[in-house]
Amino acid sequence: MSTVKIGPIQAKPGERACGRLPIENGVLPDGTKIELPIIIVNGIKDGPVFTVLAAVHGPEVTGTPAIINTSNELNPKEMTGAFIGIPAANPLAFLTRTRGWVIDEPQEVKNLNRVFPGKADGTITERIAYTIFNEIFLKSTAVLDYHTAGNIAPFVGYRYGFGKLSKKSLELAEAAATKLVWKVPMHPGTTHTEAAKRGIITLDTETEGGLFMPVRKDYVALWERTTTNMMKKLGMIKGRINAPEHTYFETESEATISGGLTTIKPVKHAGFMIPRVNLMDEVNEDQKLASIIDPFGYEVDTIRSPYDDGIVIAIGGNVVHPGESPITVGHIVPRPRVQ
Ligand SMILES: [Zn+2]
Repeated sequence: MSTVKIGPIQAKPGERACGRLPIENGVLPDGTKIELPIIIVNGIKDGPVFTVLAAVHGPEVTGTPAIINTSNELNPKEMTGAFIGIPAANPLAFLTRTRGWVIDEPQEVKNLNRVFPGKADGTITERIAYTIFNEIFLKSTAVLDYHTAGNIAPFVGYRYGFGKLSKKSLELAEAAATKLVWKVPMHPGTTHTEAAKRGIITLDTETEGGLFMPVRKDYVALWERTTTNMMKKLGMIKGRINAPEHTYFETESEATISGGLTTIKPVKHAGFMIPRVNLMDEVNEDQKLASIIDPFGYEVDTIRSPYDDGIVIAIGGNVVHPGESPITVGHIVPRPRVQ
């Protein structure tokens, strides 16, 4: 394996290296330079480059310890290819614990996962995207992006719609330690859609977590196992893939809001939500999933399953406003056939 270089960070064959990658034109008004923490574990034989990132959205950090732990456990002297870990992919949102960098204008460019492949002379968020995309993604064989979304079941999503590349994405997703495998909606500006356009295998994930929610040890372990399973599948490390039998589900084909997880009819009447189901429950069409009650206990609305063969993927918070869809139901499908 040749030396892996990401900006000023270099890892020779058989080495682990940590360092900070300067963001292209990434200087704040007070002169602070924005840098991205990077971990490289470089094997001794040429092979795939597997990039794993967390905290593209600031408070979504279950992947952060998983990346750190995995990079510490890998033995570069027994590895083929290279692992690149980005434990805090949006360093500004990470430090402010916000979804995006709060200062950027206009609003729509605050979200790093909507502005890939980025712009070298754009807003700070677009410059972060540009640096990650050009310095890291374009050198990668596969990219795995760890997100969290409140009270949600863990799953790994494969990138459909890209022919043979999607087949590889699905096969890699099947190495995941999660029971659930998701057909990720198309979504311009995201890691999974934009990197796939450049021929990179991409995977998207969600699990429980968010602001004021402590990172769950079992989910950190789940992502560590998912990462190393995928490295086994890519031929980077030896060993048996330890993955469960999967349930495949779909939501929407095109993400409009909430990353494509909005499958329920919007609530018409505001109120307090009392869920009638749990995460991972299998549900039938029109089954009542939650009651919306007023402050005196009268039911003013209900939330119902849009599908037969439904599975409850996410259950949101209790105070519900009109137009919100606080529960997500996935549609269980047979194993997809991807050409
Ligand atoms: Zn996210």
